[in-house]
Amino acid sequence: YTEKRSSRHVRVFEPWMRERHRLLQDIQDDLPGAAERGELSVVFQPVVDLRRRKVQGAEALVRWRHPRHGLIGPAEFIPVAETQGYITAIDLWVLREAARQLLPLIRTGQIHQIAVNFSAQHFSTPDFVGRIQAVLRATGLPLNALVVEITESMFMENHQTANLALRELIRLGASVAADDFGTGYSSLAYLQRLPLRTIKIDRSFVATSAQHTGIVRSIVEIAHTLNLRVVAEGIETPAQLGVLRDLGCDFGQGYLIARPMSVDDLSVWLRDWDAAALT
Ligand code: C2E
Ligand code: MG
Ligand code: MG
Ligand code: MG
Repeated sequence: YTEKRSSRHVRVFEPWMRERHRLLQDIQDDLPGAAERGELSVVFQPVVDLRRRKVQGAEALVRWRHPRHGLIGPAEFIPVAETQGYITAIDLWVLREAARQLLPLIRTGQIHQIAVNFSAQHFSTPDFVGRIQAVLRATGLPLNALVVEITESMFMENHQTANLALRELIRLGASVAADDFGTGYSSLAYLQRLPLRTIKIDRSFVATSAQHTGIVRSIVEIAHTLNLRVVAEGIETPAQLGVLRDLGCDFGQGYLIARPMSVDDLSVWLRDWDAAALT
């Protein structure tokens, strides 16, 4: 490694830092054309109804296979896509792919809804709702099969515009879920003001410590008071599942139930999944 010394600081550059810097640079340089080059793909993670013990739907999650770096997760490139202005194009690409690939499963009633993540930036681009409608019209997916997942930060930034757009989406039949709930500056006022259908409790609260259980209990109570449904994210153990069901969580998602997967694997999973796994 190389060392740079100044009067006050010692900076050490180790090989992994150089590699990291390279990755971030390549993400910036290569992201713009990634979809066109066929490097993006979508995987689907089932969402199950914990009460009825049935599959409810699936969440679409984007993946990027970079020619040199291999699989890069959204946590790495979504922030870059947001600052560089590519995120709205990516989200709509994911929506189109998810709609196209899952439509047969919706038509046969194997799943009922498809959840897609939308960045806050959509609310500062004109005709957000029109773009979603156009994609769905082109693919044939009915709007009532769409769950629009948004994070709390967007209630803060653009809540006036967001509110209008979301109300329009709901009028057209879609539903809206608050993703990663509890990690941002959650305000009860937003929960009431926004036309939400669902709250997704962030997986950081899904652990089974007494404190986390208390937090989840409170969120479920508030949600149900406001007539909202609750999805628990990141369920990894039978113990977590048991606690969440006892607390009245409506839906669940996590590696214990299924990992995100391709549409082909999802079809097989849907055929083979045994609801007894939820007992
Ligand atoms: P998210 O929307 O909260 O999605 C859930 C994340 O948790 C996914 O990570 C999923 O793979 C992961 N996960 C699910 N079950 C478990 C579990 O049991 N344990 C653990 N440790 N993790 C679990 P992923 O796919 O890496 O996505 C990360 C985030 O990137 C997403 O969080 C979402 O905020 C964002 N993202 C993903 N796809 C898109 C997209 O198409 N558009 C936008 N704007 N954001 C996206
Ligand atoms: Mg999500
Ligand atoms: Mg989440
Ligand atoms: Mg998240």
